[in-house]
Amino acid sequence: MPLIIKDEYPETLFRKDGKRLDGRDINELRPIKMEVGVVKNADGSAYLEWGNNKIFAAVYGPREVHPHHLAKPDKGVLRVFYRMATYSVFDRKRPAPGRREKEISMIVADCIEPLLFLELYPGTSFEVFIEVINADGGTRCASTTVAALALADAGIPMKSLVSAIAVGKIDGKKVVDLSGIEDKAGEADLPIAITWYNEEISLLQFDGEMDLDEMNEFLELAKNALKDIHQIQLDALKSKYVKIQEETNKSKEKNEKKGDE
Ligand code: UDP
Repeated sequence: MPLIIKDEYPETLFRKDGKRLDGRDINELRPIKMEVGVVKNADGSAYLEWGNNKIFAAVYGPREVHPHHLAKPDKGVLRVFYRMATYSVFDRKRPAPGRREKEISMIVADCIEPLLFLELYPGTSFEVFIEVINADGGTRCASTTVAALALADAGIPMKSLVSAIAVGKIDGKKVVDLSGIEDKAGEADLPIAITWYNEEISLLQFDGEMDLDEMNEFLELAKNALKDIHQIQLDALKSKYVKIQEETNKSKEKNEKKGDE
């Protein structure tokens, strides 16, 4: 994926052939890859590449709450830690978690909490650690998406997955999946998340100006993209079980051969 450097803000965000600077159409997603079970020490984990974003999510729980005073007697506690590595962006990002990381941790937690049955786990915690190792726009949406996948990989009962995408306006045109440069140099950025069990919006942020008709157009644009993202999440989960089945079949065959000898 071409990466456009911050100091090289272009005058226009579209090429002469009508495509976006990275060659995409207005409703085209960046390439997305997802994989589960990537952090062996975690109860569940997932890795996502979304354009130039590279993000790990690791889940632990249900387990004892640390610090103890955060424990709740009537339900489990969900804690989300979004961190962007110092080397993940062009500017040196300060290593200590800043206000933006706290805000995004909260956003991801708000999107995920409705999916869980926390009331079944009093006195325990679920912790989700999100590490952005390369960032290029839309990391809050990518993090929400990969965090849901890691929770599912952990086998934690969930009502459904949640998927997220940022739509926005660049050079007056509505587009899906803003890249880093489009996020910075564009006119509007609208991250949206959907929880699939009830098809409700669990995240909606907006920076810019729009009227009601435009809002509907943005939602329509996001809807199709979100369906595609959901399918990629489901495929990543399925492929884990297909792999397990293949390995089981192989070892069965081996044992059968041994038995014949
Ligand atoms: N970014 C950066 N330095 C920072 C924070 C963000 O270069 O300290 C970049 C990064 O590529 C990020 C983009 O700016 O993805 C947009 O950041 P924003 O806060 O809008 O959140 P995001 O779009 O990642 O959810």
